[in-house]
Amino acid sequence: MPLISMKPMLAAARRAGYGVGAFNIVDYNSARAVVRAAEEIRAPVIVQTSVKTVKFWGAPAIGGWLRELAEKTRVPVALHLDHCTRLDVIVQCLAAGWTSVMIDASDKPFEENLTLTKKVLEITEPLGVGVEAELGAIGGVEDDRKVSDADAHLVDPERAAAFCELPLAVFAPAIGTAHGYYKSAPKIAFDRLETLFRGTSMPFALHGGTGLSDEVFQRCIQLGCAKINISTQLKHSFIDSFVEYHQAKKEYEPLKPLGAQFDRMKHEVIEKIRQFGGEGRGPDYELER
Ligand SMILES: [Zn+2]
Repeated sequence: MPLISMKPMLAAARRAGYGVGAFNIVDYNSARAVVRAAEEIRAPVIVQTSVKTVKFWGAPAIGGWLRELAEKTRVPVALHLDHCTRLDVIVQCLAAGWTSVMIDASDKPFEENLTLTKKVLEITEPLGVGVEAELGAIGGVEDDRKVSDADAHLVDPERAAAFCELPLAVFAPAIGTAHGYYKSAPKIAFDRLETLFRGTSMPFALHGGTGLSDEVFQRCIQLGCAKINISTQLKHSFIDSFVEYHQAKKEYEPLKPLGAQFDRMKHEVIEKIRQFGGEGRGPDYELER
């Protein structure tokens, strides 16, 4: 089926209480692994790209890969732009077929963040494209922007309410997770998440998913986290699978390590989708649409 917006996908997930995996891809092979994983276990899936990846390949190339992969499968696939601070990049991606974008103005003052988010909604609403916005600061490094753990301030539930009233597809509250690997177990602000959850039917996005325990995932999903981002783990499996294959076989046939890379990523994506409860939800999503 054609690429779809993540908005109905995530509304269905929040209603039914499961999470949709949102996996960062860096090239055609990783995109193919994510889509085939979802297909194998009949799950809806979000394929996402960082701004850096968009700049590396150019938006039209990535848009072409994902359109082709989505057209050939029967499970719902959304193409999402992760953590974007610039309107011009959003416009480029929309022109190239992205069905979902994140405007990240979380480092701006509250009013400015809200105004910019509304501006993106004005552009995307007529196109049927889903929007994600963030409030508070998620720790770690995302696209070379570093937020120190001390600066990673948590979402303010009262201010978050203003975002949850907007027609967003998903809202990303900073609740103590961070990008990259955790040095020690993160302290998750479940109290704040619960306050938000009780006040809105808006689905939430959980950033910094790599390395969280199953208990944390399950509690976050129960408290409305319907989009779960996995990036760092796949970056590692992308590199490690290729290097390990070559070290073991010492061959110079590039398609073989690429095959090993595809298999490893697909396997890990299937595990994550199952963990978040997405297996078999592709057809459910069809019924609920
Ligand atoms: Zn993130």
